[in-house]
Amino acid sequence: MLTAVNESGRRFSLQGEERLETLKKLRDKHRFYCEACGKPLILKLGQKVAWHFAHKPNMSCHGENEPESIVHLEGKRALYHWLNAQGEFPILEKYIPDIKQRADLFLHHHPKAIAIEYQCSNLTPQRFMERMAGYLSLNIRPIWILGENRLKNYGSYIYRWHLTEELLLNRKGKPYALFFSATSNRFIILHHFWPLASSTVVADRTEIPAEEFHLHDLWQPPLLSHDLPQKAQIWLQQKSKWRTRKSEHPSRLERYVLAICKKRGLPFESFPAYIGLPIPEALPIASPPFLWQAWLILQFIHRRPLGSILHVDAITKSVLTLADRKLMVLRENSNCREGVSKAIERYLSALLTFGIVEKTNAGYVVMKEVAWTSQNLADHQREDERILYKWLAEKNAYC
Ligand SMILES: [Zn+2]
Repeated sequence: MLTAVNESGRRFSLQGEERLETLKKLRDKHRFYCEACGKPLILKLGQKVAWHFAHKPNMSCHGENEPESIVHLEGKRALYHWLNAQGEFPILEKYIPDIKQRADLFLHHHPKAIAIEYQCSNLTPQRFMERMAGYLSLNIRPIWILGENRLKNYGSYIYRWHLTEELLLNRKGKPYALFFSATSNRFIILHHFWPLASSTVVADRTEIPAEEFHLHDLWQPPLLSHDLPQKAQIWLQQKSKWRTRKSEHPSRLERYVLAICKKRGLPFESFPAYIGLPIPEALPIASPPFLWQAWLILQFIHRRPLGSILHVDAITKSVLTLADRKLMVLRENSNCREGVSKAIERYLSALLTFGIVEKTNAGYVVMKEVAWTSQNLADHQREDERILYKWLAEKNAYC
């Protein structure tokens, strides 16, 4: 922690401009206590970690949201200075007794009070809901910023995506995830997601130096970067991997899809190019796109007579059933039915682009037989590229 109260109730906060000698004198003169639990604190003035207050070992505290780390300490402090520079009057680690919560940063900004949480450790859905409910009950606007330690690239444009990122994803308007790096003093926003697998997404990344980032950007950050050609290349590389993969530990959905292919005499690796498309709305589905889309094509379109009608609701229901049977994996925090239904609708509208289906008042109608023919990899790759660009050229495909 960066704050404590002394024996006479005076509040101290370590803002990073103190001198070691002054703090040593202070430590000799005063005793320090936790604002939340009242237990004694130690003022740590070591060389490795930023100076901070800490509970004694094995002491639990209801005001502590996450284990204190150097990233968390430095991040809170840098955000504090950023807010000051904006002309705001932030309070570091404000303890709110009514809800027994400590906000990393707190400020009044007309018409509301704002609590900023700098989240570096993993968050559980339960903890997230509790903290949200606490703030909202006092009409405080909560803003969550992800720690720089959480921003992990797996190659360019591919990012780690865990439950915490999922929980803290901003869903109003275009979805985005907001990070802050104290090391570079920048805000980093991931946006325009193409979900790739349960723990990875392809995303655009906008970086803004703290001095150019304004308070209101916290809830409406500019999403500037749109590197479609690069993302498309990354996607095509992934797609080639999907075609040539030999999974040692195939998922249940993969085994299921492979079994259907085997039964129908279809070589899986030759799946049509419109399987495995990036569907931005598909974040609720954690299973890889080439698998859930292959399942959908096999289950609802392949071998179906032309003119058959597909209903988004029925497909959504099937996805949820597969999820119950642990075949399909959905993301925990997604609004299941509505989210899945949007993803399905979007994928069917992609199939519309290729004339596989047509949209009528009754639903989507199957218009073309599924051509699942074996070709060499180079031919598949050419076709994958053509189909991907055709899809991306569609209005709104990239939103
Ligand atoms: Zn405490």
